[in-house]
Amino acid sequence: MVNTSMSAESIWSAVLGQLQIGLDEATYSTWLSNTEGVVVQEKSFVVRVPTAFGVAWLERRLYAEIQSSLKRVTGRVLDIQFTVSSQLPVESNAKILTEPISNILSMDDTPVSVSPAVAKSSFRGNERYTFDKFVTGPANAMACAAAQGVAASPGAAYNPLFIYSAVGLGKTHLMQAIGAASFASGCSVEYSASETFTNEFINAIRTGTTDDFRHHYRSADVLLIDDVQFMVGKEQTQEGFFHTFNELYTAGKQIVLTSDRPPSELGMLQERLVSRFSGGLVVDIQSPDLETRIAILDDKAEQQGFTLPYEVCEFIAKRNKKNIRELEGCLNKLRAYSIMTGSPITLDYAVEILGSLIGNRAIGDVTSDDIIGTVASCCQVSVPEILSRVRTKSVVEARQIVMYLLINELFMSPTDIGRALGGRNHATIIHGAGKISAAISEDDSLRALVMHAKEAIFTSAAA
Ligand code: ADP
Ligand code: MG
Repeated sequence: MVNTSMSAESIWSAVLGQLQIGLDEATYSTWLSNTEGVVVQEKSFVVRVPTAFGVAWLERRLYAEIQSSLKRVTGRVLDIQFTVSSQLPVESNAKILTEPISNILSMDDTPVSVSPAVAKSSFRGNERYTFDKFVTGPANAMACAAAQGVAASPGAAYNPLFIYSAVGLGKTHLMQAIGAASFASGCSVEYSASETFTNEFINAIRTGTTDDFRHHYRSADVLLIDDVQFMVGKEQTQEGFFHTFNELYTAGKQIVLTSDRPPSELGMLQERLVSRFSGGLVVDIQSPDLETRIAILDDKAEQQGFTLPYEVCEFIAKRNKKNIRELEGCLNKLRAYSIMTGSPITLDYAVEILGSLIGNRAIGDVTSDDIIGTVASCCQVSVPEILSRVRTKSVVEARQIVMYLLINELFMSPTDIGRALGGRNHATIIHGAGKISAAISEDDSLRALVMHAKEAIFTSAAA
């Protein structure tokens, strides 16, 4: 039995690190990157997830992987309870889902048109996303100052505040920080990912409860809608949002929006929404410079209760220039490996663990066919067998190693991998790759086999 004294937060960050190793970037960032470990008990572990849809997806798709990761970190088999962000986890036997799983029709990657009923509970910030945990530098200072201005006097400073940037640069963090600060000063706050907003809206139409929907959102002093680009192409939602927006706006309530692009590039069907969005202050966040990235890493490590030697911070920061979520991902991976193996985090160790995954990948020349071919010969099976439906043990293992390597080395999406492997669905790929990533840490011969395949792939590609 190990690590029983770890906090839920640090257990979860180690688990996330492991999961990240086995999952493709899109799956990881869509379903896991904004989750939190909130309670660890004798037999159970509570994870907070931003949306009810996310809860259902994780339960269906990743329960087993998460459970085995948790076991590796804590030494115990724990029941996992997923809870939606806006709800506080209650006691141990808390009822977790806000809706029956059966309500969720399609479990594919695409957003579904069925959603939870509008959550009754109000905003509950994420303690990781506050102003004091936001590190500023030239690239984000303006956005941060605007956000602080809004939080200091909601509805008065800049309305609406529109923050845009590429993914993983702190929009949600700043937005939630505004929410937390306004909530603390007594405002009622509504936070919604625009996808959730859309789903709720459609659901409200379907069940004839649009009045409740409107009332719910219009009672907010501060309305935060994250990632409004997801409303693109959803005319009815835009229409619904337009009315909510106007009502709140004229009542002097604060509205904050984020997006991956400026309002003018949204291509909204409702042109008038674009002009509303641009009517307040529009700020962007750029990729942070090296110093800021180092400071962020240092801060994140400290929040997780460990220190990262400066040269390790620098190593990670130099290799990850664009995206803070990736920086955090490296930190989590490194920490997960270090917990699993008991090695201290030194520069050499960081290079060993992260070296092949980030930075100067001479991988440009490697194709999925190279990987399939090399794995086939390492595992002594044939390429057609890998692509076939054959389910003998050695073929299944070879196929799963291919999935694992395509995800981790070529960063392919599960859908594309499914295609490359003779038309398999993406759930099969995630499952297969997850199996290898889980087994690698326990099975020395498998690890050796995968390392050998990897070596063969890159040496033959370099030749
Ligand atoms: P976005 O919404 O733009 O995709 P997020 O707000 O989710 O990005 O940020 C991704 C991760 O990076 C979060 O964990 C967040 O805390 C962290 N992050 C982003 N910017 C900063 C910053 N300036 N200081 C500290 N952490 C940051
Ligand atoms: Mg975001």
